[in-house]
Parts: sequence; structure tokens; C-alpha cells
Amino acid sequence: MNSIQQRIEELKQKLNRYSYEYYVLDRPTVDDISFDLMMKELEALEEQYPQYLSPDSPTQRVGGEINKEFQQVEHRFPMLSLANTYSKEEIVDFVRRAEELLGMKDLEWVCELKYDGLAISLLYENGILVRAATRGNGQVGDDVTANIKTIHSVPLRLMGDDYPAEFEIRGEVIFPHKAFEDFNRQRIENGEEPFANCRNAASGSLKLQDSRQVAKRNLDCFLYFIIGDGLDLQTHYQRLRKAQSWGFKTGNFFAVAQNINEITDFINYWDKQRFELPFDIDGIVIKLNDISLWDRLGSTAKSPRWATAYKFKAEQAFSKLTGVEYQVGRTGIVTPVAEFEPVHLGGTTVKRATLHNEAQMELLDLCKGDTLVIEKGGEIIPKIVEAKHDEAILSQGKAERIRFVSHCPVCGSELVKEQDQAGRFCPNYNHCPPQILGRFQHFISKKAMNIESLGGEKMRYLLNAGKVSDFASIYDLRQEDLIGTYTSEDGKKISIQEKGANNIITAIDISRKVPFERVLYALGIRYVGEVGAKTLARHFENADNLAKASAEELLGVEDIGKTIAESIVSYFADSENLIQIEKLKQRGLQFEIIKEEKSNLLGGKSFVVSGTFKSFSREEIKKTIELNGGKNVSSLSSKTDYLVCGERIGPEKKRKAEALNIKMIGENEFISMLG
Ligand code: NAD
Repeated sequence: MNSIQQRIEELKQKLNRYSYEYYVLDRPTVDDISFDLMMKELEALEEQYPQYLSPDSPTQRVGGEINKEFQQVEHRFPMLSLANTYSKEEIVDFVRRAEELLGMKDLEWVCELKYDGLAISLLYENGILVRAATRGNGQVGDDVTANIKTIHSVPLRLMGDDYPAEFEIRGEVIFPHKAFEDFNRQRIENGEEPFANCRNAASGSLKLQDSRQVAKRNLDCFLYFIIGDGLDLQTHYQRLRKAQSWGFKTGNFFAVAQNINEITDFINYWDKQRFELPFDIDGIVIKLNDISLWDRLGSTAKSPRWATAYKFKAEQAFSKLTGVEYQVGRTGIVTPVAEFEPVHLGGTTVKRATLHNEAQMELLDLCKGDTLVIEKGGEIIPKIVEAKHDEAILSQGKAERIRFVSHCPVCGSELVKEQDQAGRFCPNYNHCPPQILGRFQHFISKKAMNIESLGGEKMRYLLNAGKVSDFASIYDLRQEDLIGTYTSEDGKKISIQEKGANNIITAIDISRKVPFERVLYALGIRYVGEVGAKTLARHFENADNLAKASAEELLGVEDIGKTIAESIVSYFADSENLIQIEKLKQRGLQFEIIKEEKSNLLGGKSFVVSGTFKSFSREEIKKTIELNGGKNVSSLSSKTDYLVCGERIGPEKKRKAEALNIKMIGENEFISMLG
């Protein structure tokens, strides 16, 4: 094998492995730029030496895998990728080439955001979503209809009546920042590894077998490409606008560009503005506006010639490391945070970045006096990608490696390293101040007891002033304990008057009604997140049963693993915790689930619920149907008994119900059926 062949083989092997890690495991080990550069190198070599081009080369296929756990569906039209570049000159070349190939000047282009998620194809028949499939290998994808139906912005039924009887629309499923942060926080609480970025998390979510789990993740979907006959709109721009009128979320940030300058302006604008978006984009897509020209340009095995992507480089800045701070969270986990001289990056000034955990910190090999390379990619949070050692210090052999602390920076306890965990934690659960404060702040947080009017800073003050000592003492607070002026940690004066104090007392009072599952979550048992608390509450029904459960019994509960089981057993083995629960019970908090009463008033009849209602949300009506012995079905058929019609119900649905002779009832009739 000559050296060219060797290099080709090496690139093929590496790229195949990276693709596997990226698409199958959702755990990339190299960054996209390196991957794309290797791919470009391989493409160039294969072009120069076509005798070495083989069909198994990664240049010959659209990335992506199919997953045998799903049903496979064949795409009617192949789902291709896009050619991409990080260089604006290549965008100019791309436009020129299209003009040359078509023998035309002044072509019109549509510039769009390049959403960083995963591609999806949706099939609509008579305005109803009938199938959703991933790209897979471009020819065959996974049928993920049930998962896609959990995304609220994907219309299950279209608005208007001018859509083709059958058509496909393609887009990108994304994880919005806020939902992603909530989700990762939840994973950390559950002792699971957080996802590296929104794209991986979106992709991992669609691969779940249980669509109820997908629903909890609050994914979103932007659509950008309609394929199908029977549409007489000849430009891509018109089609996007039309898709909006049918109820699709296309985003509002696409625009027509008449020339290369307008394309570049669009790119430059979004290169800066992307950090303001509530979701990740990794570039700009440029598509020829006139659809009739698409066929004339055709496509390669991998991508169309009428579109291309400009990818943003992650923005980088350099700064001098000034120190590492260690933060102790409510569960005792110690997080190292790098502090550096302030630098401007991606529209904001940054001076700190998390180093995540001990393992990550070691990987960077941080030394005193290092210059840090800080990056902000599509993601919102800056990350440190490299630490460059100071040459002068190195040459004197004086480089001083920064080691992770061995003791808690606040209470001084020796830190513990748990098996299978990348970090260390402070074991002083009962007496380490930041853990105690963290637990109180968690207790009053929205998803727990929802006493947010008390606020994290006031909580700090009450604790420091000795006005609260345990969760139960929050329920003994009186107006006079709260009124006053005090200083927050960052030096701000906070003052509480009579009215504010009364509001807090009311919120505390109302929180006694918070259901058991949230009280369980509020207790802050290590690894018991929101979802885990719900599962445990449903299974054990009350705190006494849970407290008695052995590790084996806990392991028998669906979705409860060894880490959570052990944590629960050790929590209830601590008498201080049992006393705490007893005190909270005395103050009226809920320590058992409220059983919903069931009836058989609707006697097995099946219902379709559509439109909006005055006294119920749609979900509430559906729940009421189930609690009263009825069945919910998603679409009308000859077997459906009732269509519950709300306001703004689509005329098509009514027509169908009439044709099938299904009884239509309004909100009031539904209520009277329940007696
Ligand atoms: P891509 O992400 O570069 O671009 C094509 C995709 O962009 C389309 O398939 C579509 O899903 C999406 N897209 C978003 N907005 C769009 C819009 N407005 N119009 C049209 N399409 C839009 O290509 P890809 O094939 O999905 O993924 C390949 C890329 O993934 C590589 O270039 C590389 O950057 C990355 N990758 C990285 C690794 C790694 O290990 N780091 C491994 C494999 C792939």
C-alpha cells in the first residue's frame, strides 16, 4: 500500500468511527471542524486518485444510522445532507458555479438559519400527519411518528384548505436552550450523565422507545422544505410562507437575497446575533429560490447542488487564568470553575467558565499562569477548550499543576470520590453550609414547594439569622420574622415590608397543599429528581411505605436504578430525616398521594376531543374521560362514539364526524354527561 492509500484508509477508518460515535452513540469525540476538515481531505484525495475511491467511503454516504428498534420506512425522495463550508469565499464560488451551470446571472437565493438538531421528514395526507421519519442513511429512516407527535408545534392537522392531498415537509427537531438546561439539571439530579449539547440530546430523545418520556423533554421543530406535487408555487420562499399559513413553524428569520453581498450580510448578521437565539444554530443555509431550476442542477450522492451551508466557526478568545474556584452544590458535588481576566466573547463579557469536574480539569492539565482558549460555539455557555502553558515558566521547570482540592473549601471535610462518578463530593450532608442553603433554596423552588416569593437570598438571610433551622421551621415563620432590611451576598439591600411579608406567609400556607410527589422532590434526597419522585410517589403511595422499602424493593420499581435505591435507603436510615418528615406532617404537608376517584359514568364509550374549551384544558377533558371510564382516541373512525367540540374546531373534523354519524357534543353537554 502506498502512502496515499494509507492516508485514505486512515481517514476512512477515523471518519467512520467518528460518525458512529456522533450518530449512534450521540457522544462525539472530535469537534465538527476537525471532522469536516478530514472529510474534505478525503474528498480531495479521492478526486485526485479516483482509483482508490471505494463504495464504503464515508464520502459516499449521507451520515446517520437506522435503528433496528424502530420500524424502517423508505423515503420517497432521498433525504440528503448539505455541502458545507466554513469559508465565505467558497460561498461566492458556489453562487458563481450555479450561475455558470445554469448559464444565468442574478439568481435569487433564500437564506435560512441552519438549525442544529436532527433532520425529520413529515408526511401529510389530507392535512393529517400520518408519518414522521428520521433521515437514517438517506434512503431508509426510522419511523418515529409517536415521538414526533409529542412536539406541540408540529401540527397533527393543518389549517386552511389549500394544501396538497399528499405531501412531505422536512425540517429539524431541536432542543431549545431552556428545555435543555432543565433536562440536563434533571439528569444530574438523577445521577445521570448530562448531554454534551442540544443536538445530541435532541437526537438521543427521538431514539427513545417510550414517547411519554419524549413528551417530557419539550422538543421543538422548525420546518424548511416542502416536497410534493400539486403545489403551484414556484419559489422556495413562497412555499415557506405557505407552510406557515398551514400552521407549520418555519421560524421568521429567512430572507431572499438578490446577490452575494446580501447573502454575506445575512451571514454576518447571524454570526453575531446567533447568541441571542433561544436555540442553537450552527450556520446559514443558502438555497436557490426558483424551484424549477433545482432539477437542472441536480445533486451529488450526498447533497443537492442548489443549496449549501455556511457553518459558523466557534468564537474563540484568549485569557489568563487567575484561579480556580470550587463551588459546593446542594448535593455536595464540588464543581471547579476557572476564573480568568475578563474577555469579550459572543456578545458578552466572560470571566468564569465551569470546568465541570475533576476528570475534565485533569484532561486540560491546568497549570498556574496558563493562557486559556475559551470558546463559545452554538452553545450559550462558554467552555475552555485548551490551556496553554507559559513557555517561560515551563523552560524554568517551574510549571505548577493545579490539583483538584482534597477537602471541602467551605466546611473542610475530606471529599469523597464515588464509584463511576467523574467528580468528588463533600460528605458532610448535615452541617456543610452551602449544602444546607442549597437544600433550602431547592425546597422553596417552583417545581418543589413553590414558595418562590421567599427567594433564595431571603432564605440565606433567614438561615444566617437563625430564623429558620430546618424545613419545618419555615412553616412557623411569623410576619415579624420577615419584616426588615438586610444585605444580600452581592451587597444589595433587600427590604421586606408588611405586604411582602404577608404574601410570603400566604405562599407558605398554600404550599401545604402541594402534592406528595413534589414534597418528596423538595426533600432533596440525592439523585431523586422530579421524575424519580413522581415514580416513587405513585408506586409507594405514601412516605411511610417508601421509608420501609428495601433496596431490592426499590430496584423492582420501573426506572429506579441502584444509585437512587441506595440513596433512598440511606436517607430514611438517618433518624434526623425521619424527625424532619414527622415535623412536616404535623404542619400539614402532604405525605401521601391523593387518589383520584374513578367512576364508570362514561361506560367504555370512545371520545375524540377537539378545539378549545372554557372550563377545561384539552388535557383536563381527556383525563376526566379516563377517570370516568371512557376512552380517548386520537382520530375519528366509525368506532368513535362522541366528538367533544370546543371553540375553533376545524370544519373538516365536523364534516368527518357527520359523515361517520358520530354524535357531536359541546362542553356543557359533556359536563352534564358526568352528572
Ligand atoms: P450538516 O449538519 O452539516 O448539514 C445538513 C443538515 O442541516 C440537513 O440534513 C438538515 O438536517 C440540517 N438543516 C438545518 N437547517 C436547515 C435548513 N434551513 N435547510 C436545510 N437543512 C437544514 O450535515 P449532516 O449530514 O446532518 O451532518 C454532518 C455533519 O455533522 C458534519 O459536517 C459534521 O460537522 C458533523 N459530524 C460531526 C462528527 C463528530 O464526530 N464531531 C461526526 C459526524 C458528523
